[in-house]
Amino acid sequence: MSPSNQFLILSRDESSEVAPVVDSNCACADTNSNLVLTQMARQPDRHLFKAATHTQRLGQDRHLAFNPLGDNGPVILNDAALALLNCFTQTDQVDILQAGVLDSNLQAAVDRLHALNLLELVGSQPRLQRGDTQTLIAWLHTTNACNLTCTYCYVDKSDDPMEEATGYAAVDAIFRSAVSNGFKAVKLKYAGGEATLNFALVMKLHAYALEKAQETGLGLKEVVLSNGVALTRPMLDFLRDEKITLMISIDGIGDGHDAQRIFANGRGSSHIVKRSIDRALTHGVSPHISITVTANNADEVAAAVGFALERNLLFNLNFYRENDTTLDPASLRAQDERLIAGIRQAFAIIEENLPEHSLLASLIDRANFGSPHETVCGAGDSYLVVDQNGSISRCQMEIERSVTDIFATDPLTEIRLHTGGFQNTSVEEKSGCRECDWRYWCAGGCPSLTYRATGRNDVKSPYCNVYKNLYPELLRLEGLRIIRAAEQEI
Ligand code: SF4
Ligand code: SF4
Repeated sequence: MSPSNQFLILSRDESSEVAPVVDSNCACADTNSNLVLTQMARQPDRHLFKAATHTQRLGQDRHLAFNPLGDNGPVILNDAALALLNCFTQTDQVDILQAGVLDSNLQAAVDRLHALNLLELVGSQPRLQRGDTQTLIAWLHTTNACNLTCTYCYVDKSDDPMEEATGYAAVDAIFRSAVSNGFKAVKLKYAGGEATLNFALVMKLHAYALEKAQETGLGLKEVVLSNGVALTRPMLDFLRDEKITLMISIDGIGDGHDAQRIFANGRGSSHIVKRSIDRALTHGVSPHISITVTANNADEVAAAVGFALERNLLFNLNFYRENDTTLDPASLRAQDERLIAGIRQAFAIIEENLPEHSLLASLIDRANFGSPHETVCGAGDSYLVVDQNGSISRCQMEIERSVTDIFATDPLTEIRLHTGGFQNTSVEEKSGCRECDWRYWCAGGCPSLTYRATGRNDVKSPYCNVYKNLYPELLRLEGLRIIRAAEQEI
């Protein structure tokens, strides 16, 4: 065995953190179905074996190892560490390693590979189990009006704002359900329509939500979802001072954005949105950028990604979801090859400008490689969508199909009991997914989209082919990012 101090084993704990989840244009609720690994502690009489692991070479003396059934994410190994890991596929080598007294560095390397789920105890059958319920997420449809007419929008717009009394009753209902169902925090998404068109209400509901959070002892997170067209300086000052996240949609730079995010007269909004983002930065607000990929901008998303990277902004790429409101829904869905090519162009830009933050949770639609989970989002479980009239539905994509309202004793329980339409089925119950290596990171894609496309809840996503092509490349990017972060610390 080579000298043990040659082993290099890097994981996300050396790089920085948990992958940040970025609020998206689809504004999907984060899932609460996160899984944690339960595994037996080391025992001297039980041998270790290499877990079924995805590996790829990242460069000279650097490899990526990822156990899809672990909960640790990608790990970087050098040649020696990979050779050590591979020793644990061969019984004779395992016997030698485990029979002898290992020097302390070699023992430390073995322990670390075990802690990172790349080695497992024979017969221990590590299991992913559901963690605690954490955050109840709620969409507040502060207005049904918008100053843009985006080609893929799912909102059937009108001039109706949410009235103040409705807003307060909505916040009451959200906290009521959060307390009744044991959540630790509430996340409010001020949305619409365009939330900045009813910003006075956003300010009042923020103050009221702070009171409710204090009264109930729950945590509070808030985000304003905006198209960036009518953001004023006072709004930016308010968001900065109150520590409210701002999410702005941008789908390309110039033509890519203007092909789909347009005013009623057909004019594009790109120049205004770019100006708003830069103005936000000068006001101390670092907006999250949401990029929606359709057939009209698949070749342009790389430019939007470059724009976000230049400004060190968090961003995500989400795929267009067909809906009832778009005039020609099917024509907006990019063919798989085009979508893959467009995302690969974006990945090339990222590789040249690797950010400090992890991208595991935000680069491929609803996939989140930040932590394993069994449903893709909180729809039907930990998510309330309140429209401007106080009706509540399960997902913003079906805001017209309400299940209950803000006057129910516990709206979340009614949402959970609802059985019509799409069901947010566990990935373990989806045909095609249950055997898939990527299942706990992909979770099978948006259930609403799959149901719309197939009429079924128990099958994989129509975007599956795109996902499977891109997931190894996402891991590669993260591996390169971890290596670079470690090198910068030396
Ligand atoms: S059902 Fe689909 S559109 Fe709705 S919140 Fe979940 S992932 Fe998003
Ligand atoms: S949608 Fe495809 S990639 Fe995702 S878990 Fe299912 S089979 Fe795997």
